[in-house]
Amino acid sequence: MPDAAVVGSGPNGLAAAVIMARAGLKVHVYEAAAQIGGGTRTTELIEDGHWHDICSAVHPMALASPFFKAFELPRRIELALPKIQFASPLDRGRAALAYRSLDRTADELGRDGRAYRRLLAPLVRRLDGIVETTSDQLLRMPADPLAAAILGLRTLEQGSPLWNLRFRGDLAPALISGVAAHAVGRLPSVAAAGAGLLLNSLAHVGGWPVPVGGSAAIATAMANDIEAHGGVIETGFKVSSLAELEAAKAVLLDVAPPALARIAGNRLPSSYRRSLESFRFGNAACKVDFILSGPVPWAGAGITDAGTVHVGGTRTEIAQAEHEVSQGRHPERPYVLVSQPSPIDAGRAPQGRHILWSYCHVPAGSTVDMGEAVIRQLERFAPGFRDVIIRYKVTTAAGLAAYNENYVGGDFSAGLLDARGLLQRPVVSPVPWRTPARGVYLCSSSTPPGPGVTGMPGFHAAKYALKDIFNLGVPRLGV
Ligand SMILES: Cc1cc2nc3c(=O)[nH]c(=O)nc-3n(C[C@H](O)[C@H](O)[C@H](O)COP(=O)(O)OP(=O)(O)OC[C@H]3O[C@@H](n4cnc5c(N)ncnc54)[C@H](O)[C@@H]3O)c2cc1C
Repeated sequence: MPDAAVVGSGPNGLAAAVIMARAGLKVHVYEAAAQIGGGTRTTELIEDGHWHDICSAVHPMALASPFFKAFELPRRIELALPKIQFASPLDRGRAALAYRSLDRTADELGRDGRAYRRLLAPLVRRLDGIVETTSDQLLRMPADPLAAAILGLRTLEQGSPLWNLRFRGDLAPALISGVAAHAVGRLPSVAAAGAGLLLNSLAHVGGWPVPVGGSAAIATAMANDIEAHGGVIETGFKVSSLAELEAAKAVLLDVAPPALARIAGNRLPSSYRRSLESFRFGNAACKVDFILSGPVPWAGAGITDAGTVHVGGTRTEIAQAEHEVSQGRHPERPYVLVSQPSPIDAGRAPQGRHILWSYCHVPAGSTVDMGEAVIRQLERFAPGFRDVIIRYKVTTAAGLAAYNENYVGGDFSAGLLDARGLLQRPVVSPVPWRTPARGVYLCSSSTPPGPGVTGMPGFHAAKYALKDIFNLGVPRLGV
């Protein structure tokens, strides 16, 4: 009989299971799919020998998140850093490039270099405090109040119509908005600016690495640790009711809020259940994975060396594309997020070939195939792109929702990312991971600090389960 049951083996479920197993408890993880990992799976999606990340691909938080730092992830897997962390191509072969070095990045941004440095340098200097603050419930007293204030003021600026005030050209704004647009939603907005500035600063400290072997390496490292500490992971087991897990003293669910309402049923008060059922989800993604006969023929110098490319043009064009999605339309010129892992992780594709990972934002529940629109945007900044495509596969938003129940309507952030959606995750509470049912915890990215492969929702849920039910503290997690 397990002491603790974990429902779902996404990075947050696995993080929770690592902590519970390390604390000496008997842990059983139930995963509905045939493969563990949730948003951290890597498979031969199109052809043998070509390894695609189905969901997450790029992992700045694998170096920075307090959970992964404690878990010593870089000692367990190889994280490959590109020469250029991310890039934004503009028309006429121009490009804005983000290096790990803030100074080099600023120096190459021309007349806005100083403004970019002034915006980012204070964040980079206090990054540990910012990561601590943003890794917890946002209503809490910040771990580093000065760092929080610096981030807060810059977030208000970059999240408001004043966002262009400090800039004169288009390179630096495109670079910053390319990152902010990761948070699906209107631009400018406070939620996108905050998330964007954090990710932007991470590029200038640890960088934006890709795991060698793909994101599945992260899930495997956690699964190995769980099993080494006596935990059991069972795949192909979809939990439908808490009654199936009666023996466990604590149940941690890596599921979306409506699924928690269904699974826990009348163990939860009806008012709380109604909050879960009416939880607000955001817009979605349409994924396009490519096998290429060579590197992408980018027109702009340096982009070939970028791990991540934000393809959408200027800040105004990116905001326009995001605005269209927020209005329920499919943009003709979408903002496309691109990761090019194979130049720095040669094992992902046979010699001479490359894989390319991309997605664009679409309205929730969309069944529209955005393959052509994505190819046209890439062709715009990389003329000849079409000629290097061998095969590609589109996964629509509806396809993503079917792939993983947590992506309701294809919303891979597992909840709308606006100011309210950051605070009400899934309810406004000092301990949002704890549900009103004793021993039942929500540990998915529908809880703070939200989406991304951070392990932090799992960390917080496990911390409270250990304290409330077992009277234990968080154990040592290192190698
Ligand atoms: C296209 C795409 C690109 C992304 N890119 C990045 C990126 O580059 N970097 C980044 O950090 N993040 C990225 N993300 C986001 C990241 O993948 C998620 O934020 C993260 O995986 C959330 O982790 P989780 O553990 O909360 O849930 P998930 O990873 O969604 O895992 C939940 C797991 O629970 C299982 N489950 C659900 N219900 C049940 C049940 N009833 N019984 C048993 N099992 C169940 C599911 O099958 C799934 O395996 C991306 C996501 C997508 C879709």
